[in-house]
Amino acid sequence: MAFAVKLVLAVLCAAVSFGSPTAAAPSETGVPPLIDRLEAKGLAPGRYHFYFRAGARGTGAPVLVPVIVLKGEKAGKQLLLTAAVHGDELNGIRVIHRLLEGITPADLSGTIVAVPGVNQPGMEAHSRNFGPHGGDPNRAFPGNQKRGEAEAIYVRHLWEDLFLPGTDLAVDLHTQTTGTAYPLFVFADFRNNTARKMAYALLPEMIKNDKGEKGTLETALLAKGVPAVTFEIGAPKRFQDELIEKAVAGLENMLITSGFLEGTPHRPKGSPIVGTHYSNVIAEEGGLAVLHTALRDRVKKGQLVATLYDPFGTILRTYHAPHDGWVLAVATDPVRDAGQMLVRILQ
Ligand SMILES: [Zn+2]
Repeated sequence: MAFAVKLVLAVLCAAVSFGSPTAAAPSETGVPPLIDRLEAKGLAPGRYHFYFRAGARGTGAPVLVPVIVLKGEKAGKQLLLTAAVHGDELNGIRVIHRLLEGITPADLSGTIVAVPGVNQPGMEAHSRNFGPHGGDPNRAFPGNQKRGEAEAIYVRHLWEDLFLPGTDLAVDLHTQTTGTAYPLFVFADFRNNTARKMAYALLPEMIKNDKGEKGTLETALLAKGVPAVTFEIGAPKRFQDELIEKAVAGLENMLITSGFLEGTPHRPKGSPIVGTHYSNVIAEEGGLAVLHTALRDRVKKGQLVATLYDPFGTILRTYHAPHDGWVLAVATDPVRDAGQMLVRILQ
């Protein structure tokens, strides 16, 4: 009950701060203030926590999206960092926490707007998509009020009033989807020179240079002239410490090369594997998969990559690499429904 009262008080306090970010100081209740729009350039240097109101649930209760703003003491650009646009992809949340622990406003030139948990209904439902019945929010950007789909309306709120205002560049943090894994990997459109530089500065193990899929946050931002990349960090539904620390180091390096932090850019020992296309090796029928290859392995065309078994241990099918390349993603869950990915090969 005490918490409910506090939350109501926070909502009331925040009602006077709509559109006025300087009024959004930490509330006396300890619950971060509610905002309907963020204009970070109006904030004094410091660290701020907000809840952004992104529409309402079917119950009428607001969907509250956590926002951390780190405003530097020196002027500079504004970076948008988003995590969990897909609700099962959680490593990026911890990456944001760890990154922002290590930076003070005195260190920073410019502003970091971090959203550690974009798809709140998806996180609550343990789902990639927008809640248990919704579609894929990362195919719905920049959103559309008229389309009538919940995820398109939701991302429209985020797009117009949180993601776009003041943003100069962006990194959208993802992982592979449930039952599969990526290495440390960046999707980037090299036609945008700043996005290409960002991709390398993040120090990933692999990069796919492509024009992106329609409806992703990355491609919607690029269409608005905002350099953006999608940073894939391992596997969903867990915090993978080693990959998280590598991603934090990559982001720190990108902050140095982009002028947010002082320091010497990291010189990577080796180059990332860079490709422009990938193929999925798909289970044509359901079965239990044994993989014969691992992330980042070099594979040759025709090489055995997976065997599918029936429940009695009899081989159903064997799968071979369709072309030379490097293993970009693997199934980590041996239970494969018909049509699900076994191995993804980048070339
Ligand atoms: Zn994702």
